[in-house]
Amino acid sequence: MKEQIHTIPINDAMENAGECPFCYIERRAEERMMDFVLGAGASYMESDIRSQTDAEGFCREHFRKMFRYGNALGNAWILKTHMQRTIEQYNSATKNFKPQSAKKGLFRKKSGEEGTDNQVAAWIKTREKSCYICNTQEKSFRTYLDTFFTLYKKDEAFKKQVLEGQGFCLTHFADLLTGADERLSETELAAFYEKILPLEKENLERVYEDTAWFIEKYDYKNKDKDWKNSKDAVQRAMQKQKGGYPAEPFYEMKK
Ligand SMILES: [Zn+2]
Ligand SMILES: [Zn+2]
Repeated sequence: MKEQIHTIPINDAMENAGECPFCYIERRAEERMMDFVLGAGASYMESDIRSQTDAEGFCREHFRKMFRYGNALGNAWILKTHMQRTIEQYNSATKNFKPQSAKKGLFRKKSGEEGTDNQVAAWIKTREKSCYICNTQEKSFRTYLDTFFTLYKKDEAFKKQVLEGQGFCLTHFADLLTGADERLSETELAAFYEKILPLEKENLERVYEDTAWFIEKYDYKNKDKDWKNSKDAVQRAMQKQKGGYPAEPFYEMKK
């Protein structure tokens, strides 16, 4: 499994980076993960994998992607035992439950405040953060960051490719910065930030300009002018903000 996930070459990602090389890696790795979870290999019929998916469950986004992937029977198998596990946990969370009004009392929480004293609600909240696909992706993402910084330090051509690239989506930019803090020395860090912060700024501004020109193009005065790079500005601006590929279709099972 590990090998399957880790084999997306980082150079391949740099060549297909678009707005963010890590989005490319994330998407490819996610597709492999979908094939692993629901594809022809039927890993969902293996008890060790199933006990992991039973325990970790899936987030809303991945349930959606799993539904759209197209293996309804496979999904049903996964859900059957996951539902069983959920019902067991529900029973133990509600067993000794005593309702408590949050309208009274010394430690009364204001509305919108994080956390809850309600044990049933708290159980649901913790499981909402849990996803077998997200968890696996997060683990392998750390390995990609290791590779990224190893190459960045040693391989001049790779470093040049990064610094002449189009930057990163902001979500992965945060991962990149915290990844750098953990992996680079003080001197290396200073040099890294000196390059990477202006690179990101320049590319945020580029996407802003593309988006602004997209709007200008709708003005009749500009109807014969060139689109420049703005035809797909909307999806690229969305990606730059939060990562992912909003315009891409769902990944489906190979028939
Ligand atoms: Zn990204
Ligand atoms: Zn997920």
